[in-house]
Amino acid sequence: MPTAKKKISKTATKKKLTGKTSTVKTKKTAVKKQASKVTATHTAADGFSFHGIGPYQEQKNEEYMNENQIAHFRNLLDAWKKELMEEVDRTLHYMQDEAANFPDPNDRASQESDFTMELRTRDRERKLIKKIDESTELLKTGDYGYCESCGIEIGIRRLEARPTATYCIDCKTLDEIKEKQRK
Ligand SMILES: [Zn+2]
Repeated sequence: MPTAKKKISKTATKKKLTGKTSTVKTKKTAVKKQASKVTATHTAADGFSFHGIGPYQEQKNEEYMNENQIAHFRNLLDAWKKELMEEVDRTLHYMQDEAANFPDPNDRASQESDFTMELRTRDRERKLIKKIDESTELLKTGDYGYCESCGIEIGIRRLEARPTATYCIDCKTLDEIKEKQRK
């Protein structure tokens, strides 16, 4: 993530230096907007940085998925799961509290759509927790971090952005293309 950010800000600086006309200026704003968007998506996808766990510091010639790396990803998955479980808990309590508070049928209708949304969120969280559990299992068996399809190393940075990834970026992209064609 930091690499991408750096790249974008570098480009922006370059444009600033060369930008003479107003057209360029407008363009620059557009680029800037896009840049902040990218950062935002990234932060959301990263997830791990919210749990107080920083990116893994690789040593030179370090073996892929050595003990330290395994420990790092176990911590990451554990912290993520814990947070999700707390979230599920909160949702449940919120719904229990709210259910008691709306005797009016109109209120109840809007409340129900609220609930539907909450339940959907909870369902998503549950599925994610299941995936986290599966990843934790892979860590135990030593299969974590390798592409399920082609067997290649998925890579530390991709795994940090998506700790539950089971495909390398190439297989994932291919999979998404196939998925689109099926529709
Ligand atoms: Zn692959």
